[in-house]
Order: sequence, then structure tokens, then C-alpha cells
Amino acid sequence: MSETNKYMMVGERLCLDFVNTISWRDSDDKRRDWFTSYDKLIDWSLHAGILEEKQAQLLLKKSLHDPQEAEQTLAQAIQLREAIYRIFRSFTKEELINPEDLTNLNKVIHHYYQRMHLVQLGNVFSMQIDIPEGAFDTMLPPIVQSAVEILTSEKDLKRVNQCEGDSCGWLFFDTSRNRSRRWCSMADCGNRAKSRRFYQNKK
Ligand SMILES: [Zn+2]
Repeated sequence: MSETNKYMMVGERLCLDFVNTISWRDSDDKRRDWFTSYDKLIDWSLHAGILEEKQAQLLLKKSLHDPQEAEQTLAQAIQLREAIYRIFRSFTKEELINPEDLTNLNKVIHHYYQRMHLVQLGNVFSMQIDIPEGAFDTMLPPIVQSAVEILTSEKDLKRVNQCEGDSCGWLFFDTSRNRSRRWCSMADCGNRAKSRRFYQNKK
């Protein structure tokens, strides 16, 4: 688990951080997918807090015995990630959603939501999805739930935005009061834009 420090989490919502596991999404040469193996998906999920260390170790061990199933789960995760990305991006650009993406997301929702049940947490109940222990896709249901939560709230959906940085492509949930956030991170794309402006003004 050496790479956990490298994961930037600026999306403010789980499903958006999940979508942001491709750096420089819109760039031909800089684009890098973080999920190059099932191990990386596990590592990221651990960092995101949707897997516990014990679960992660169990899944890593299981994946050694069944690399094919691990590969399939990785492909499934990537397909889900891309469907979520395209749906949110269409919204930020005020474009029509691709029906195929919605169909794919709906299939995943149908698969998991039939396992949903109420669990009491102190004075309140929470909707949780029952996943068999050691299932390869243990990390996916909370991501799906996170996406559904935003998509079913007009107020929240309006807060999803895409970084204005050149070919960055990252999405974020804008928590600022007047919805004025423009960058994935001020230290990153924000800074680059600022120094470019500075240079142009000098010219
Ligand atoms: Zn950015």
C-alpha cells in the first residue's frame, strides 16, 4: 500500500473522486489511468475509505487465486466510472445524456439495489447494500449510491462542475456558497491559470 499518498481527492463526493482516477483525462499525451490493475483499485478504495484494511487484504489474497475474476471486476469498475463520468460531464456542459450510459448505470443500480436494506444506526436508519463477504466488487456499491444521491437531487446536480484547467477533466462538487469554484485545486490547475494570466498581462 505504498501509493496511497499519491491519490488526490478533490471531488468532495466519493463518486467524483472515483471519476477523477484518470489524470489529464482530456490530454492525448499526459492522460494516465490510475486503475492499471485490480490491486490499484483496491489501494484507491482503501484510501477512499470504502474498504477496510482487513477487507483489502482478503481481496488481494483472493485475486491471486482468481486473477480472471479480479480482471473482470476491474473492467466492470472502469465501465461504471466512465458511464458516471460521461453522465455528469454532459450535465456540466448542458448536453444530452447518452442513453447507453444511463442504461449501463441502471443495470448496475438494479444489480445492487435489490440487495438494499435498512440498518439502524443509533437514532436513525441508513440504507445499506448487502454484499457477501469477500466479493470482488465490495467497493462498488458505495460509489453507485454516491452517484445516485447526486443525480436525484437537482440542487446537488447543479453543484457538479468540471475543472477549467487545460485538459484536466476532473470533476468536483462545488461546496462554495456562491458556486464560484473553477479549479480542481488552486495549487494545481488554478495556479497554472494564474501564472499564465500573469505572463500574458506582462506581454
Ligand atoms: Zn484541474
